[in-house]
Amino acid sequence: MEQNGSIYLDYAATTPLDSEVLDAMLPYFRENFGNPSSIHRFGQRAEAALEQARETVATALNARASEILFTSGGTEGDNLALRGAALAMRKKNGAQRILISPVEHHAVLHTAQQLASDYDFKLDFLPVDRYGQVDPEDVEASLRADTAVVSVVYANNEIGTINPIAEIGKVCRQRNVPFHTDAVQAAAHLKMDVEADQVNFLAVGAHKFYGPKGVGALYVRRGMKILPTQTGGGQENGFRAGTQNIPYIIGLAESLRKAQLGLDARREYFTQLRDRIIAGVTASIPRANLTGHPTQRLPNHASFVFEGVDGNALLMMLDLEGFACSSGSACRVGTPKPSEVLLAAGYSKNWALGSLRITVGHDSTPEHVERFLDVLPRLVEKARS
Ligand SMILES: *Cc1c(COP(=O)(O)O)cnc(C)c1O
Repeated sequence: MEQNGSIYLDYAATTPLDSEVLDAMLPYFRENFGNPSSIHRFGQRAEAALEQARETVATALNARASEILFTSGGTEGDNLALRGAALAMRKKNGAQRILISPVEHHAVLHTAQQLASDYDFKLDFLPVDRYGQVDPEDVEASLRADTAVVSVVYANNEIGTINPIAEIGKVCRQRNVPFHTDAVQAAAHLKMDVEADQVNFLAVGAHKFYGPKGVGALYVRRGMKILPTQTGGGQENGFRAGTQNIPYIIGLAESLRKAQLGLDARREYFTQLRDRIIAGVTASIPRANLTGHPTQRLPNHASFVFEGVDGNALLMMLDLEGFACSSGSACRVGTPKPSEVLLAAGYSKNWALGSLRITVGHDSTPEHVERFLDVLPRLVEKARS
């Protein structure tokens, strides 16, 4: 994507809306405006569309329609799974520990921290290796009888590392502990299958895969208890009250369907662009490190740290030169603190502050990448002095 001389290389922060997805949404702003809870035929039509969307999302995740809840996005899904499962498990059997990885998105991390500080849960962190990856054996060793919920991100947004979710799911299932995974980044690039992965909860958000912002889905395995955090009407099986946002839900379903269908066709192309970025940056810039796993990483995701660089200054220089990149998390803007994720992966502050994330998308081209690689070494040098 190139707009007014600016090249967009930040598809992990958000993606533009797919125009076919927009077309699918539009009738639900206009003629099909009914409330799906209404008895009359306006309501029936809206309800039919809602349940069709639920089927579509379920098929994309290899779940049942009854296991899909619609939410306002990835953040809400993470909140609902973690808080909902923690509170329900404590009510059921007194479990009071929460076990998460140190490389979770803030939607999980800050929820777990709030459960610890204000709801008397104990919060434990799993170890990760220098790629920010969780070892299933460490999950096994860390599980206790009083663990209420485990959460491990499917693929990390900052450093792109993919976690061994199926193995972690297996360990949690053997010990009968609810397992949540934040698949908000992963669903854009990896095949989702809640059965193969043995997860109990899985959150996605549409705007990471060319759908609209402000809508997502949470998979809740049949039989799992969660305490609803939003109460009111009986929508979404009583787990999430409030009239459903039908046009956005239609957009979520269509964008997820398209994302999951197109994975294989795009992987090769993305991987080529990604690996060209990694090779170009590490060859031309001294004191630069690839962050995250070299191969078990999202196919569109390249991320680095540069020693002695102010990452925010670098981003501003890149923007002036016409390149939109990120330091790793759109939720960190204005905070001159090193990322917890990079610290957990073992980087010192002097390296972690100089982080840069480049993520490509459907309309990225090799030419965009070459132009980026042409300017980056000079800007890193400038940001160092
Ligand atoms: C973007 C993102 C979120 C938050 O999703 P929203 O839909 O923006 O609320 C959560 N987790 C990860 C890994 C993300 O990349």
